[in-house]
Formats: sequence, C-alpha cells, structure tokens
Amino acid sequence: TGLSSVQITEKYLSFFRARNHLELMSSPLAVPGNSTSFIIAGMQPLLPYLRGEQLPPAPRLTALQRCLRTDDVDMVGTNDYKFSGFHMLGNWSIGNYGKHEVIEMALDLLLNVFGLDLGRLWVTVFTGDPRLHLGLDEEAVAGWLRVGFPPERIVPLGRDDNFWTTGGPGPSGPCSEIFVDRGPAYGCGSAECRPGCSCGRFFEIWNLVFMEYDLLADGSIVPLPQRNIDTGMGLERIAMVLQGTGSAFAIDLFQAARERLQMLAPGSDRLDKTREEHAYKVIVDHMRAVLMAVLAGVEPGRDGSRSVIRRLVRRAARQGRILGIDEQFLSSLLLPLAQAHGSLLTMEEHERVPTVERIVAREERMFARVLTSGLKFLLQLEPKADGQVAGEELFRLSAEKGFPADLAAEVLMERGLSVDWSGYQRSVEEHRRVSRLSAEKHFRRG
Ligand code: ATP
Ligand code: MG
Ligand code: MG
Ligand code: MG
Repeated sequence: TGLSSVQITEKYLSFFRARNHLELMSSPLAVPGNSTSFIIAGMQPLLPYLRGEQLPPAPRLTALQRCLRTDDVDMVGTNDYKFSGFHMLGNWSIGNYGKHEVIEMALDLLLNVFGLDLGRLWVTVFTGDPRLHLGLDEEAVAGWLRVGFPPERIVPLGRDDNFWTTGGPGPSGPCSEIFVDRGPAYGCGSAECRPGCSCGRFFEIWNLVFMEYDLLADGSIVPLPQRNIDTGMGLERIAMVLQGTGSAFAIDLFQAARERLQMLAPGSDRLDKTREEHAYKVIVDHMRAVLMAVLAGVEPGRDGSRSVIRRLVRRAARQGRILGIDEQFLSSLLLPLAQAHGSLLTMEEHERVPTVERIVAREERMFARVLTSGLKFLLQLEPKADGQVAGEELFRLSAEKGFPADLAAEVLMERGLSVDWSGYQRSVEEHRRVSRLSAEKHFRRG
C-alpha cells in the first residue's frame, strides 16, 4: 500500500521540474574500468558546478542518483534503514535560490505531495562552532519558523552532525536535516530523546545542505562567491515512511527477493528472529548493491572497488548459511530484485541481468567450498585462556584457504570470541619477511 518507489521518484522529480529544475540523468555508480571508488552522494557528479568550475546546464537541477557507501557496509543489518547501496533523490541550486526557498519547497513536498503528518517531523540546524567563527544558523531557524514548523521540534546540533564538508578542503556549509519520528515504542524513553539520539527512534530522511563556504586547508572558512543548495533524500527511507512498512528492507523494492529467500529457507523456526532479520537485511542489501555495481561495470575481484563487490558477495553467502541455505542461491535473487526496481533500471540494464547472474553465480561457486571448510574450522577453534583467538589462526585461514579474516572475526564475534589482532598483524609481517627472503634468495641464485 502507499506510493511505490517508482511513483515516489516520479513525484519528487516532477515536483522540482514544475519548479524550473532541469532533470539530469543518473550518473554511473562507478566509472567502468579504472575505478577506485563509488559515487556516495547525488552531489558528487555535480561538484564541478557547485565549485564554480563549470557552467551548469541550468541553475536549478534535480536527479535520482544510485550511491554506494563502503563505510556503511558493516552497519547494514543493525537498524531498519541503513544500506550499503541506495538511491538518493536530490535537488540543487547553483547560486540560485536560498535557504528559505529550499525549506519551503521541502516542507511543501513532504506535507502536500507525500501527505506526511507534520507531527512526525523534526528538523536539525547548525548550532555554530567557535573554531569556524560561526554562531547558530539563524537564517535556517527563521526559514523553518516562517513555514509554521513547531519551534520545539527544531534541534540545534554541532559540527559533526550539521556542518557538511566533502571530507577535506572544498565547498562546505551548515545543513539542516529532516527526521521522521517512529514513535515512543522505538525510543529509549529518555525525556532528552530527539534527533541525534543513538536509540534510533528518529531517522534522517532528507539533508538540506547550504553550501556557502570554502573550507581551506588550515581549517578556516571563507564565503563562496556563489551560495549553493545541495539536498539528498534516501528513496528507500521515504518509501519506508510512505509505505508504512516499519523497515526500509520491507518496501516494494525488496518484497520479491524476500519471498524468494523465504522459499529457500522455510525451516528457519529454530533461528532467533532478530538473527534471521539481520541475515535477511544483509543478503538483500548486499545483492542489490552487487547488482547495481556489476551493471555499472564493476565485477567482483581482487583490488579496489572490485574487492568491495567481492566482499559483499562473500558476506551475503555467509548469511545464507545462517538461514540454513546450503545450496547456491545468491544469483537467484537478482531477477526478483531487478524486476521490483521496474523503471528505476533502464531497459538495457534489465536485459543485462542474466549476465550479472552468471558473474555472481561464478563468484559464489568459487567461494562455496572455502566457506564450508572455513566455517567448520572456526567452529572447532578454541580460544586461549583470555578468551581471544590466536591471530595466527585467522591469518592461516585467510592466507592458506582464502577465507577473509574480517568475515572470520564476525563469525567468532557471534560465538562471543574476539581476535588477537596484534598476533594477526605479526603473522602478516612474518609472512612478508619470509616471502621477501625467499625472493632475495631466488634472485641471488638466478
Ligand atoms: P545517516 O546519518 O543515516 O548515516 P547521512 O547523514 O550519512 O545519513 P547524507 O550524507 O546526509 O546521509 O545523505 C542524504 C540522505 O541520503 C540521508 O538523509 C538519507 O536519507 C540517505 N542515506 C544516507 N546514507 C544512507 C544509507 N546508508 N542507506 C540509506 N539511505 C541513506
Ligand atoms: Mg551516514
Ligand atoms: Mg546523518
Ligand atoms: Mg545527513
């Protein structure tokens, strides 16, 4: 029930088209061939415009952008709305409109197009920072008050939450984030519970960034010649709200894949429900990210962004074992995922799904034997007296059998065991030393 993800996308883009925004095509998730990283936000392909280095095709832009955040991979499964790969809707002003206009449009869209209840919304604003010589973002507060936003739900937060940067020198500025309240049942019960609280009652759906400063290498800021606006809204998160599913992993985009998984693992009653839910989230998230990445030309492999995709496949394969699925299954989730994405994928991409299936099946097959023997090995592993597992064991497992150490650590953690990482590091160095020596010997002989 509610709006489908495709409908939400169409409504968002047409709202901004009607307000003179030019709709841009989504950029590829990664540059095929030589890529070392993925697109992490909708603004990334637009940076030359935002920096004033290139003239934009129009001063107002809107787009849907696929993103993949390697940093978020390990978080997947720990809550109801964190993905590794996801879709970001966005609208931008390149030196055109300001804070008040973007705030007004954002609230108009949420209330009058998406029909959200104002009572569920909270916003954050930048509280200021002496190191930046900036005080409270009064203009943003005034912007929210102007459109009738209740003052008690405008929360000032510090630099970590509400001052956006590219991660280094470059365009930067305060931001204002919009949160949805899931209700007291999801909260910690504290009277202080509000956006920013770690309990997860409030989750962020939309970030409005006011890109108005140039952050210099010495950490100081100077005003940019042109003030820009950069916004990003997570499609899966707004769909979770509008479809009322309580989890972004239960929205239309993942339903068919979930049904397929339930067919494969019907006998999982013996499994703890939280553990089952966690496995399900990791599998669908990772396989969708893999689908998007392989469609963008990044196949699983050894180095750089390829190794990220390999890691996603292996982590998903391992979660399958937790659900009690012993056969190969990952590639069979790709078609249900692709079909549920409908027009979010191009016709040409839909046609390439069988190719992606072959690539994933091959990768899964390669890893299956290693997974089985590695899991058996880890199950038998005895901790030392201090409850830690010798790092050397993990090193041997990864160097000799090809079972990734981080995955092994994850498995051990679930048994309540930890890893002696300094011992692991010693093994890595010892291995390096020995292979260097033997290489030198070989060289001298030759
Ligand atoms: P979070 O605090 O939840 O990690 P963020 O502050 O890192 O989100 P932004 O960089 O502000 O996110 O991105 C803009 C929007 O993109 C967010 O408001 C959110 O709706 C969406 N988004 C960001 N990261 C994710 C993710 N890992 N999974 C799903 N949606 C995301
Ligand atoms: Mg984040
Ligand atoms: Mg955030
Ligand atoms: Mg944010």
